Amino acid sequence: MPNCKQCKSPFEIADKDRKLLEKVSPVINGQKQLIPEPTHCFDCRQQRRLAWRNERYMYKRKCDFSGEEIISMYPPNSPFKIYKQDIWWSDKWNALDYGRDFDFSRPFYEQFRELQLEVPRVALVNKQSENAEYTNHAANNKNCYLSSVVFGCEDIYYTDWAIDHCKDCVDCSYLLEGSEICYETYYAWGSYMTFYSDFIKRCKNIWFCYDCINCEDSFMCWNLRNKKYCIRNKQYTKEEYEAEMAKIFPFSYSGLQKHRKEYLKSKEEIAIHPAIYSIQTTGSTGDLLFNSKNCTACFDSVNMEDCRYCVDAIDVKDSMSIYHVGWSELMYECHAISTGFNCLFCHFTYDNRNSICCDCTQNCSNVFGCAGLNQKKYCILNKQYSKEEYEELVPKIIEHMRKTGEWGEFFPISFSPFGYSQSRAKEYYPLTKEEAISQNIPWSDYQSPKPQAGKVIPASQLPELIKDIPNDILNWAIECEVTGRPFKIIKPELDFYRRTGLPVPRRHPDQRYEDRMETRNPRRLWNRECSKCSKPVETSYAPQRKAIIYCEDCYLKTIY
Ligand SMILES: [Zn+2]
Ligand SMILES: [Zn+2]
Repeated sequence: MPNCKQCKSPFEIADKDRKLLEKVSPVINGQKQLIPEPTHCFDCRQQRRLAWRNERYMYKRKCDFSGEEIISMYPPNSPFKIYKQDIWWSDKWNALDYGRDFDFSRPFYEQFRELQLEVPRVALVNKQSENAEYTNHAANNKNCYLSSVVFGCEDIYYTDWAIDHCKDCVDCSYLLEGSEICYETYYAWGSYMTFYSDFIKRCKNIWFCYDCINCEDSFMCWNLRNKKYCIRNKQYTKEEYEAEMAKIFPFSYSGLQKHRKEYLKSKEEIAIHPAIYSIQTTGSTGDLLFNSKNCTACFDSVNMEDCRYCVDAIDVKDSMSIYHVGWSELMYECHAISTGFNCLFCHFTYDNRNSICCDCTQNCSNVFGCAGLNQKKYCILNKQYSKEEYEELVPKIIEHMRKTGEWGEFFPISFSPFGYSQSRAKEYYPLTKEEAISQNIPWSDYQSPKPQAGKVIPASQLPELIKDIPNDILNWAIECEVTGRPFKIIKPELDFYRRTGLPVPRRHPDQRYEDRMETRNPRRLWNRECSKCSKPVETSYAPQRKAIIYCEDCYLKTIY
């Protein structure tokens, strides 16, 4: 077993890893350029990719082309040149102007870094949306705010991952199949009016429910199928249920916190958990893997085939060690890729074929070590070559990178365009500022200026019930009860709380996100035993947790 170059722990390289590496190795001029075995363990490879993703933090800054004030995922003190979206995608500038020769006396990544620092980057990834300026990694949305990874949705606020016609949701993660009016919900398929609930399918009007399918009008329930009017998994008549709910609804802020505590405790101590949560998936390991086959250690992914170590991916085949990739094939060590074919060590590319070590190249093919190119082929370090020149030079550069130990590695973590503190890596692999700096990982302490508000109110002084909140709250800044950071409520959000009877939140949106993250399982598998039949299982529930874990057979027999 090799030792990880980063954390020094031993890690396994399976034969299937080797086979897949051979399969994704690029063929240039008829010659296969074998990718060597990974030098970093699963976690260190993942950390390196996650450090390249700022999904949620958006800032006001100037466009470095026009001087215009824009919204961007890069703070104003970023060392990069940032262009507003429409300018970046236009022909008002030419990425080939930054082209340079490859210097065989120096390491590849050192030369790439110089290019990366000069070529403008796009401020935000947000296409064809209306009234959704504060959304990132998003497209085709209407009326959305401070949300990321949102596609084809409407009225989505403070949410990450909402796809496929979801509507009217606040503070959620992973909403699918047209879910509507959801609040503090994690994984909902085709559900309507779900509040503080997780893993919910085709449910309606439920509060604090976990792992329920086809349920309606229920409160504080777990593992239910096709039920109505249940409270704490006990059946009530319609009248009884309504009478019980009338005693606690509308919820006061402190009432809700009490229920949330009870919910989290029930989930951890009473509910039954499938060891891994996968649907229509065969021959695979990982968690939250849907409609997939022959995958190993994949998480939060859909429609995957023959993939290994992939996270947050959709419709991907024959790929390994990728993060946020969709509709792609033969990918390795990539992040933020859409419709790619055989892309290796790439970041943020759309519709690329045979791209290697590229950052932000769009609609390109056969490009190597390029940044910010659009509709180009046969380029190296942003310099145009003929097909023949390209095919002659690239194998030589790969040979050079073999000697420098760079071939086979994603971009160094130190090249991340974001501070570690803004990246998703900090959620899964927390580091202090000192730890990050000592490892040469970029860090940013930049905070947006405080919101302009007539009055500032400490969260504890807010009325308990929504009916006592005046319209004027839109002019106040609320001081987060945990961090003291001021935040504002926006009009459609207030309307949502009023329609649903929810009190106004007392925590900053970032804190609310962290609270939700805390209740998610890590993307990691442990060996445990089924709590019922003692069969060995792989699970994302850590061994020290109280949670009741069932193997697939026991879970299906018990729940259905
Ligand atoms: Zn490691
Ligand atoms: Zn079992």
